[in-house]
Amino acid sequence: MDSNRLVIATHNAKKAGEMVKILSEHFPELEIVTLADYPGAPEPEETGTTYKENAIIKVESAAEFTGEWCVADDAGLEIDAIPEELGVWSKRFAGEDTPFGEKMRLVLEKLDGLPDEKRSARFNCWVALAKPGYATQTFQGVCEGRIAYEQTGTGGFGYDPIFFLPELGCTMAQLTPEEKAAISHRGKVLKLLSDHLAASGW
Ligand code: IMP
Repeated sequence: MDSNRLVIATHNAKKAGEMVKILSEHFPELEIVTLADYPGAPEPEETGTTYKENAIIKVESAAEFTGEWCVADDAGLEIDAIPEELGVWSKRFAGEDTPFGEKMRLVLEKLDGLPDEKRSARFNCWVALAKPGYATQTFQGVCEGRIAYEQTGTGGFGYDPIFFLPELGCTMAQLTPEEKAAISHRGKVLKLLSDHLAASGW
């Protein structure tokens, strides 16, 4: 390790909060900051066609701006019944500025009448790690579930209120932050990242 600082490269405060919490539990000694600590940090356009490409675009932009080790994630909700609509475009579904309550209402409308077995879905999350002068590395985490019949819960963010976890009998938004971190796509991918950092002497 050649630095004691890690920059979480996201402008999404809720996502940053989840990432800081999970990583600081794995690395209590590390100074974990976000792009909010770097005024003027660019917000690059997510022009990739895969999560991996978008995570790399975000992390390399942040690494170039800050000169530090940076971590970025790109995630999406994949709904098997409407495979072309969300996925890597989840943020832009129904318009980037449309409130999530409305986006979720539209998803539920599109799945209206479909039984449990046709509501399968997953969160797919890729994380990229970069610093200028080093090869960028990527990691993936997936969380399987299905689309609920209504929005339930106030925890988490984004599509969590309609993401039902059959083994737990509730939506992702009904979990505490600790419970979400233990089973979520982001918790899983950050565990892989943490194992990699630990093996590299962090
Ligand atoms: P991005 O990775 O910031 O591009 O996010 C893609 C989309 O998926 C956004 O609309 C997010 O709100 C949503 N999303 C990402 N992670 C989660 C999550 O953990 N729960 C619910 N929605 C999420």
